Amino acid sequence: MQTIEKFNFAGKKAIVRVDFNVPLDENGKITDDTRIRGALPTLKKILTDGGSVIIMSHMGKPKGKVNAKYSLSQIVDAVSEKLGVKVQFAPDCAKAAKAAAALKPGEALMIENLRFYPEEEGKPVGIEKEDPAYEEAKKAMKASQKEFAKTLASYADCYVNDAFGTAHRKHASTAVIADYFDTNNKMLGFLMEKEVEAVDNILSNIKRPFTAIMGGSKVSTKIGIIENLMDKVDNLILCGGMTYTFAKAQGGHIGNSICEDDKMDLALDIIAQAKTKGVNLVLGSDCVAADSFSNDAKTQIVPSNAIPEGWEGLDAGPETRKAFAAAIENAKTILWNGPAGVFEFDNFTAGSRAIAEAIGKATKAGAYSLIGGGDSVACINKFGMADQVSYISTGGGALLEAIEGKELPGVAAIKK
Ligand code: AMP
Repeated sequence: MQTIEKFNFAGKKAIVRVDFNVPLDENGKITDDTRIRGALPTLKKILTDGGSVIIMSHMGKPKGKVNAKYSLSQIVDAVSEKLGVKVQFAPDCAKAAKAAAALKPGEALMIENLRFYPEEEGKPVGIEKEDPAYEEAKKAMKASQKEFAKTLASYADCYVNDAFGTAHRKHASTAVIADYFDTNNKMLGFLMEKEVEAVDNILSNIKRPFTAIMGGSKVSTKIGIIENLMDKVDNLILCGGMTYTFAKAQGGHIGNSICEDDKMDLALDIIAQAKTKGVNLVLGSDCVAADSFSNDAKTQIVPSNAIPEGWEGLDAGPETRKAFAAAIENAKTILWNGPAGVFEFDNFTAGSRAIAEAIGKATKAGAYSLIGGGDSVACINKFGMADQVSYISTGGGALLEAIEGKELPGVAAIKK
């Protein structure tokens, strides 16, 4: 596989898929530029080698239509400033051949939001799956997706994928385009390489004990990853809203706490699997119960399986926090996805904070810690502890799918 480190971009045009899907405020100002900063090493390497760069990305969900709200023109100045080069802009990503051809070494061009074209995602528009004509429409869309990818590919001599956030999608710019470059002229960017290496540390290069912490609101969205981790971890902490599905499944009373009644059998199965596989499953024994879903609610500490009627568990209790910390502090490999409580409310951050602090301690003592998924990243940032963990992934869905053991189309396309 070609690598960006080895590749000399001098005199070459590179088309780079980045993830510049950054949050904007109502005035179009960027509120978090992490994703732009993440792609800079790749873009700078191309320019300093003496190459020129065509930057492509999606932003938001314009659903295949032009929509000024999602125009990448809003971020061109910010990217220019960070890159230290005036970035030109092509207002139609499928009609940028002239602008790309005119690029000189050291110059950069950003093309408009790829998702203004339905071909980017490759899903037929305006037709439901149930429609008898759907399969035909899908075939036609796949064909035009190839044409779209071919057009993008025609702008450049080589292709770099540095968009980990969309690596789990088989879109025109993330996977299909790679078919138009030979193996020597396509590669992962520095950010993608780092992300892939981080996943490898968690999946193959494990130092024990390995503790995984899965939180968030629901079991259903995390079940794939929980089942895959069951064969790998020594300690599995399940926390956040899913605590109460487990408590109820075991006959507990959970008041108004969030619960997926149809996932109770699954919860019992996870408990049984942990036993058979010798995994130390840590579930919250006590919780901070609130009398309403609000930051100012009245609270009390109660067992997670004896929550009074009218109350709901919104955070991990003190005993639980201790148990979490014990399972984290001696670990040598740690994965955290999903908060232990409704951390958006300042009064319900203690569980997530205890996890973050224990991870910080273990990391200082030599553990490898990977934090991923939007909410746990937001958590660690809220606590100002981003520098106390080994790696923070930029990918939500992509990270989860990679850890579930699925091959990411964005990575597979480069290897082909
Ligand atoms: P997810 O998107 O599944 O990772 O879930 C993240 C969300 O779970 C956050 O917005 C948290 O506020 C929420 N969450 C965590 N614990 C609870 C809880 N005990 N009750 C309700 N929501 C929760």
